[in-house]
Amino acid sequence: GATIGILGGGQLGRMLSVAASRLGFVTHIFEPGANPPAGHVADQVTMASYDDAAALQTFAQSVDVVTYEFENIPTAALDVIEAHCPIRPGREALRVSQDRLTEKGFLQDLGLQTAPYADIVTQSDLEAALETIGAPSILKTRRFGYDGKGQARLKSTEDAGSALADMAGAPSILEGFIEFSHEVSVIAARGITGEVSCYDPGENIHRDGILHTTTLPARLTGSQRMDAILLAGKILNALDYVGVMGVELFVTPKGLIVNEIAPRVHNSGHWTQNGCAVDQFEQHIRAIAGWPLGDGQRHSDIVMENLIGLDMDRLDDLIKQSDTAIHLYGKAETKPGRKMGHFNTIQRTS
Ligand code: ATP
Ligand code: MG
Ligand code: MG
Repeated sequence: GATIGILGGGQLGRMLSVAASRLGFVTHIFEPGANPPAGHVADQVTMASYDDAAALQTFAQSVDVVTYEFENIPTAALDVIEAHCPIRPGREALRVSQDRLTEKGFLQDLGLQTAPYADIVTQSDLEAALETIGAPSILKTRRFGYDGKGQARLKSTEDAGSALADMAGAPSILEGFIEFSHEVSVIAARGITGEVSCYDPGENIHRDGILHTTTLPARLTGSQRMDAILLAGKILNALDYVGVMGVELFVTPKGLIVNEIAPRVHNSGHWTQNGCAVDQFEQHIRAIAGWPLGDGQRHSDIVMENLIGLDMDRLDDLIKQSDTAIHLYGKAETKPGRKMGHFNTIQRTS
């Protein structure tokens, strides 16, 4: 069978690898870190740095298509890979989503709403931006942020100095704080022939900047749900996207505001593993393999909850709940803030 290369051996790479194996593909993971969660399930693992062009080349020559579990892949590494095989989703999705400033501009050009934002390099940039955007606001590094890392909240304009210091000189953006009623996300897929399929939007609650729960159905009116799906489709089409994408949205009285996009399977889509016939991982593999998309219709009301750090102590109780499907990532060490697993609890079957 064909071989699928996956950049990144974390939990997302692991679950992609399981889905690919289930469809009969061979999987090959590329991961710099030792003992990656995906290493236990993939057919082959290359442990090497993204700077190692020779290792990347050998990896790319061993696979038919390359996909990824995270968006911060160095451009030079992508160049080496692309000389040998296609990268799906494509380079444009990575270029846009690697940098919050580029991403916000892209979304605005599509006519979508984002938080007001400004490019920040210096103290005077920040002072000028605070004149228009004001406080409360959030300073975010343009690149490499996840799980709320690389962010500083400004309650008032007096927090400017300490917030900028927190960025440690990294290029940043200032975002106006959105008074949202709640947060939702759309997990959207686009196939190689351009067909688009979206999962029902889920409602997300974050704790300490990390996703805590996703609940289905989300509190959305019919027109909000339609809006969410249509704007996700617009983003995928604009990028000529192939694969699954997570689109994070703020629900406000003025409509849906796009927080950020992630060109990959998404934590807030983990509910699909037990709420749909074809989950986001199979959907992603189908798309990048050039297969037709599968049926992402939701068949149950469901709550996904992350197991973070010491939440793992709850496992003894969780395994006694027969309506709960448990997904663990096989991480060797439990650390505060580390995603160890998640569980999906069926609320009602429709
Ligand atoms: P992820 O792990 O989802 O990639 P991240 O580190 O990229 O997270 P964001 O999604 O930008 O961070 O922000 C994390 C959370 O902080 C959001 O889900 C939201 O709850 C809150 N937040 C971020 N930006 C804003 C904003 N402009 N206004 C209000 N709340 C915000
Ligand atoms: Mg993010
Ligand atoms: Mg986010």
